[in-house]
Parts: sequence; structure tokens; C-alpha cells
Amino acid sequence: MRCRDRLPVIVPPLCARCGAPTVWPVSRCRECAGRRLGFASARAAVEYDDAVRRLVGGWKERGLRRIAAEAAALVVDVAPRPAVDSISFVPADGERSLRRGHHPAERLARELARRWELPLEALLSRSGSRRRQRGLTLPERRRNVRGAFRATRAVPATVCLVDDVYTSGATASAAAQALRKAGAQRVEVVCFARAVR
Ligand SMILES: [Zn+2]
Repeated sequence: MRCRDRLPVIVPPLCARCGAPTVWPVSRCRECAGRRLGFASARAAVEYDDAVRRLVGGWKERGLRRIAAEAAALVVDVAPRPAVDSISFVPADGERSLRRGHHPAERLARELARRWELPLEALLSRSGSRRRQRGLTLPERRRNVRGAFRATRAVPATVCLVDDVYTSGATASAAAQALRKAGAQRVEVVCFARAVR
């Protein structure tokens, strides 16, 4: 990712809640107003445009270990270090990641944990198998991931939850909700890329 300078870095002003780029700094925006979100805030380093989509595709399909380090460096440049007890990640979707053998969210969380000097903890698992989120409408996405995650161990009071891509926020919200149900008081989401409407 030496083409870093060409990546569409997300810059303020942002929605303080969901991290969408906005015209002025706002505490909630058109995208997240009226939505119940399991997390307190979400931040991402780059916009999920076609170039980033291809990059993340290669990361998912072929591993491309160095991308995790480059992505983490970019996230650290763009997003402030969250004030949390530990860092975790959205767990892999069983069959698909077993087939591929790598999980970008975990890799990214591992790199961020090192840079931010936070303990990395695998706190969540998926319960049951669901349809893929891709191609679903927003209400379908929300329904599809509802109850899709559960905590597998004791959860600290504050957690940074990492995923590779934030699309509708439905997955991050459902995973954050599972952490909250298991005792987390605040969940801050950090992703590499974010869809911008
Ligand atoms: Zn928002």
C-alpha cells in the first residue's frame, strides 16, 4: 500500500457518533440519527471506494500480511487512540474465513493493539450462520445480524471493537451490543474503511 497518498483518507469534520464525514462537526447525522447503535462512536481511516474495495478484497482473499501493518499505521494516523481497557475484533464468519484462512479484522486489531499498547482480547463469537450482509438492504442487514454475536468471556468496562470495513454499521452495532450485554459500558468502533453515502 505504497499508494497510501492516493487513498481517500477520511478527514474532519465528522459525525462524532458514527464517523460519517459531514459539513460541520455534529453529534449525530442524517445517517445515524434515530438509529439505536450499540457503540458510542465509530471511526475509520479511509473511504470505502472502488480502489479500497479492491485492496480489502485482496486482503481477505490472499492474506497479504503487510496490508494489516499498513492499514494499522494509517488508522493510528487518522483516529485518536481510544481510551479503553482492551481491544477486540468482530469475529470471522465461520465457513467463509475457514475457507480463506485469514481474518483481516483480527489482524488489524492485533496491529492496533501493539501500536496503542492495549491488550488484545477475543471477546466475541458468532452464533449460528447468517446470510451474507452484502446485497441486503439496511433493514435486512439489521435483522440479519441481530443476535448474531455473543461474548465468550468476561468483558471489560470499555472496549475498542475493530473491523476491517464499516458499511451500514449494522454488524458493528450488533457486535457492540453483545459486548454491552456482557457488561461493557462503552464500546468504541475502529475500522480501516468506511462506506460514505
Ligand atoms: Zn452519524
